[in-house]
Amino acid sequence: MCINYRSLQGITQSVAYLGLACIQVDLDALLTISHSNALFSEMAKEYGLSQVYLFPWIRNEKYYDIANLVSVLNQKGNIDGETEGYSEKSLKYKIKWSLTLCREDQLICFIRDIRSCKRYQEHQSLFESLLSAYHSSVVVTDENNKIIIVNDCFEEISGYQRQEVLGLDPSFLGSEKQDALFYKELWCSLKNDGFWSGVVWNKKKDGREYPEQKTIRVVNDSRGKVINYYSISDVLLDAPDQSDPKNVYRDLISPQTLVNALNDSVRRTSAPVAVFHIGVDNMFQAKQLYGLAFSDSVVKILLEQLKKTFLPRGLICWSIGNEVIVAANHVNTPDMAHLIGCSFLKDLNAITHYDEVEWEIKASLGVAFCSNENEAWKTIEQSHIAMHHAKEIGGNNLQFYDIQTQSQAKKDLDIEKALRVAIQNQEFLLHYQPIVDLKNYVIYGAEALIRWQSATLGSIPPDQFIPIAEQSDLILDIGFWVFQTVCQQLCEWGEKYTGSIAVNLSANQIQYAELPSILSHILQQYSIPVERIHLEITETAMINDINSAASVLAELQGIGFSLSIDDFGTGYSSLSYLTRLPVNKLKIDRSFIDTISSCEDSLVVIKAIIGLAKGLGLSVVAEGLESFSQMDMLIDLQCDFAQGYLLSKPLDAEKFIEYIQYFYDRDTLF
Ligand code: C2E
Ligand code: CA
Ligand code: CA
Repeated sequence: MCINYRSLQGITQSVAYLGLACIQVDLDALLTISHSNALFSEMAKEYGLSQVYLFPWIRNEKYYDIANLVSVLNQKGNIDGETEGYSEKSLKYKIKWSLTLCREDQLICFIRDIRSCKRYQEHQSLFESLLSAYHSSVVVTDENNKIIIVNDCFEEISGYQRQEVLGLDPSFLGSEKQDALFYKELWCSLKNDGFWSGVVWNKKKDGREYPEQKTIRVVNDSRGKVINYYSISDVLLDAPDQSDPKNVYRDLISPQTLVNALNDSVRRTSAPVAVFHIGVDNMFQAKQLYGLAFSDSVVKILLEQLKKTFLPRGLICWSIGNEVIVAANHVNTPDMAHLIGCSFLKDLNAITHYDEVEWEIKASLGVAFCSNENEAWKTIEQSHIAMHHAKEIGGNNLQFYDIQTQSQAKKDLDIEKALRVAIQNQEFLLHYQPIVDLKNYVIYGAEALIRWQSATLGSIPPDQFIPIAEQSDLILDIGFWVFQTVCQQLCEWGEKYTGSIAVNLSANQIQYAELPSILSHILQQYSIPVERIHLEITETAMINDINSAASVLAELQGIGFSLSIDDFGTGYSSLSYLTRLPVNKLKIDRSFIDTISSCEDSLVVIKAIIGLAKGLGLSVVAEGLESFSQMDMLIDLQCDFAQGYLLSKPLDAEKFIEYIQYFYDRDTLF
């Protein structure tokens, strides 16, 4: 087969239209590309693959070398295959290809990007679900302005079913309120600007007229031809009649006032402001069953409870469909929002009696945060979406807009709940990580590190649950449990281990004035000499409230505890506190040891810390030692002690004793 240049160009264009990349190649060692269509260039750019050679694109297990490929081609004249791999940018690609010999030394290849087809389908279903979740009415028309897509909200507002409107011109919805001139001007701006925005009066299926805030946009193809129009509309509500004493919403502010206030607050303080969107559950049924007066009485109760919870600092605003929006500028974090929102829901859950009717009021809450990065209008919309989510999952609950915050807040809450029963359920365990003396490679001590195997959540690392425990008073109980368990363990080990154990203390613990007396009481209880316990406190914990920390630390030192500053180098740059605090040891943070040989700055910091420690008469422990080269450098720098995976991972009590035994038997580690 021989293809001339013109017909090749024609084929290239046609197949691009069908979503195929087309490439003409010379039959050489790497299949050098002589021509290709624009689609191929786009694919090559996206995946960072060669635009010069084809072979790297199609090489797969079956056709691994060119000789094999050529011999099959010569026999069959055509080969089809699939290839998948990773681009230079680590993007996974998958292509189907078909290779045809069209001259002795020339091939033509068609490629279909399967991944992008799949992605298209994924986008399509994502688009559909987004559209149906969208709380504005959406109408998409074709180039002749005939309806091709509407969403659920459109059906809800207009009263028409999808099948009734597909293929119609949206003008059938128009009311008599706006004349031909209005529509002429609308089309004029669509033609000139590709865009129109304003209020349109439409008519519902049942004949009622209603105003919509509408935005229409024109969609063009790459050549500028109109292919679609889409419109997004929200129903406009009339403000509640302030003079009508029967109107339950009459003393609430308008959405615009709320937006202005939100913008103002964020600008002034830069702090995020929680926006709650509140809707009574099953209000529609209530109205249907018991009438408007009943639903008004329910709203009244809701508003009273909202005022109790959020006033005087919050702002309450009316919204559509018996819903209310609250901006609470004293609520700045998801935790606070969760707390306040849940307590509101709990207080609201009252039985209301109206005439003969008995009804339990429940509501759904959506929360979003307005900040410098999230405009007020957007936040209100987000809180609305979150409220719908809350309703979707059964109502009578609170949901955050941001999926991440939502799942994080929930996770943290689950952790806190599980932590409350962890001690009594004996879910905690201690591991011990040996600390080695770098001068003579003998065991100097060990650090006790907590492990948690939760019955409900599985294994959770301390980095995740300690900060949550620190936010509540739980850390005190956990801290005492750790201390007591260490003492008990030392007792049990007896002669098997006679060294010291370092115990981590949190910021809240060293703010707790009773700490020294309780710790010394536990020591006495187990008859453990105080020298056998070292206490580790992070730099930030010490500095948080240096005055109260300093007095507790002084008391602890008075009892005889040896104190170390943990994660040294990551906290404050002011070192003057070092002379004020009664510390004995500095633990250089793992991040510096990790980069000791690759980062000049780390080496400088480590040298400075060791120099400083020597000057103040303190000893130094290097954390996170993972390689011999790091160890050699630390020894050169005269670092006293080290701890890290190179020497040993944290071990349970039994394995720790085996390790110690091994050490004792050999005298030294190396
Ligand atoms: P930390 O006090 O800085 O503890 C050292 C952490 O580094 C431990 O993580 C340890 O397993 C890890 N580690 C030790 N050597 C190496 C190494 O060579 N390479 C690497 N990549 N990591 C190493 P772990 O056990 O997950 O503890 C994390 C943090 O949780 C601790 O950091 C400490 O802040 C806190 N924590 C652990 N146990 C307790 C406790 O009983 N009480 C309190 N308040 N905090 C604790
Ligand atoms: Ca530590
Ligand atoms: Ca540390």
